Amino acid sequence: MTDWKKISLEKLAKQLETPEGYIRLSAPLEHDNIVNGDGLRVVLWTQGCPNHCKGCQNPETWDYKAGYLAKIDDVKQELRQFRGQAGLTFCGGEPFVQAKACKEIADWCRQEMGWNVWSFSGFTYEVIKEYGKGPWDFLKSLDALIDGPFILSQRDLSLRFRGSKNQRLLHLKQGKGEILSIE
Ligand code: SF4
Repeated sequence: MTDWKKISLEKLAKQLETPEGYIRLSAPLEHDNIVNGDGLRVVLWTQGCPNHCKGCQNPETWDYKAGYLAKIDDVKQELRQFRGQAGLTFCGGEPFVQAKACKEIADWCRQEMGWNVWSFSGFTYEVIKEYGKGPWDFLKSLDALIDGPFILSQRDLSLRFRGSKNQRLLHLKQGKGEILSIE
């Protein structure tokens, strides 16, 4: 029998090797987005995903060498210009393979902009928790996580912010990572 959890942990261990102070993005920052979390949001599109879900809508974000490297300080400067936003959502690609850079941006947004922070992940909450280290630290900086891979056979377009029935919208205790509620 295939041990999916073990495979997920191995995939999660394949962190993108970005230089210190940089993050690899797949697209420019977006603002006024209403489909990737509650309220008007900025979306940060990360590049690189090890999950390769069948039916993924963004396969161009899989390649670890595609997209472009952005200086985290420049990302912060750009974020500063967006007004009237409720929060920031990390989309992918797979944000958790760049957990350290994402956490730095997440913490900055909370402190400097007063925003809440959400992230998508193709990994489940449980896999991220078991892996620990940087990915768990990033998770603890979030208010909400939409977790799990996209599974084509469970596709359901009626779900809030999710594409397949296995995915969950987890509201988290920010700073602790505890699950407060599940949608
Ligand atoms: S985790 Fe997301 S970006 Fe990665 S393959 Fe799956 S659906 Fe696509």
